[in-house]
Amino acid sequence: MDAKKFDYDRVEGLIAGLLEALGEDPSREGLLETPRRIANFWQEFIEYDPGKIDTTFSAIKHHQMVCVTGMKVWSMCEHHMLPFWCDIAIAYIADDKVLGLSKFARIAHKHACKLTLQEQLVADISAELKEILNTEDVAVMAKGEHLCMSMRGIRTPHRMISSALDGKFHHTEQRLEFLRLVDFSEFK
Ligand SMILES: [Zn+2]
Repeated sequence: MDAKKFDYDRVEGLIAGLLEALGEDPSREGLLETPRRIANFWQEFIEYDPGKIDTTFSAIKHHQMVCVTGMKVWSMCEHHMLPFWCDIAIAYIADDKVLGLSKFARIAHKHACKLTLQEQLVADISAELKEILNTEDVAVMAKGEHLCMSMRGIRTPHRMISSALDGKFHHTEQRLEFLRLVDFSEFK
């Protein structure tokens, strides 16, 4: 997030305005607390704090592939402001640094908690891991469903799969090993 601050009062007021523009009565009982609830949600989403994510420790020097899969994050499509979820699988080849397991989830949530696109989410996760781990040998795969396609527009359930495979993952052997591990997991 850049220097812009989340403006809670403005969001709350705009939601009340949106309800009016939709032909609703924001003062009816069911809607009284809605602007506040939605402002709370957006604040929690936009100001997500991933905690400390760059704590690495020294590696087991034998170029082991580490693959973390089965993670699910929720994000928000920047074209439609509708949610999408993604299953995320991440792998890297441990050289001189390894990263604590929870950090992968923190990094995934950090980049999911903004208006974005699945392709951008995958690219952002990959870029951050490369920087923290000081390696190009990072693979990120995401499989998502986007409400902007499921509940509006073409209204069709789907799965969108995108990946960023870099460094040694350009090589067939590492690529196939990653895909095999991903396929072996619940990432299906
Ligand atoms: Zn969309």
